Amino acid sequence: MEKSNLCVKCINWDHRPEGAPGERMGYCIARHRIVSPHLECEYYQLRTADRVATLNNRLYGQIDDSMEEMDF
Ligand code: SF4
Repeated sequence: MEKSNLCVKCINWDHRPEGAPGERMGYCIARHRIVSPHLECEYYQLRTADRVATLNNRLYGQIDDSMEEMDF
């Protein structure tokens, strides 16, 4: 079976296109550096909707219903 690039489907992948890293390069949150494609990785975690929500909550905090009604 052919191995594929794990990074593009990993929760730790942040492509950051504004830095013009190239199609296959990106920032790895787990490794804290720009990485090239990994075919095997001990930090790999499949990106799922639940994991993205958990990561966003960790980064930005939770927004409760009362905050959505605030007029900034
Ligand atoms: S954790 Fe591994 S697979 Fe995921 S983005 Fe970083 S290097 Fe790629």
